[in-house]
Amino acid sequence: MKVSCEIVKDLLPLYHDGVCSNDSKTMVEEHLAYCDSCKAELKAMVDTLFINKTEQNLNEAEAVKKLSKRWKKGMLKSLLKGVLITTVVIALVALVLYCFMDIRFVPKPY
Ligand SMILES: [Zn+2]
Repeated sequence: MKVSCEIVKDLLPLYHDGVCSNDSKTMVEEHLAYCDSCKAELKAMVDTLFINKTEQNLNEAEAVKKLSKRWKKGMLKSLLKGVLITTVVIALVALVLYCFMDIRFVPKPY
């Protein structure tokens, strides 16, 4: 059965995704065997999808990288905050203790 290129081109996306019926698949394959134009069409479709997929993967990788960078930045910030707060608290406690000890136990020189 000879089918027109138009029909095959309509079926190519389905054929490419593997969602057409076996009859359509056989028909497309028979047509592709002798029609270079449709073969090129299918190849272009595969290439385009492959490029899109690669680009999407790159974008996803980039997004993950950015996210982890932001996360690391946040981690560092909260870590610094924690260290700063701890230092201030320890300093305050030491100061209070020092004053307390000074008044109570160390006689003033005057
Ligand atoms: Zn054709």
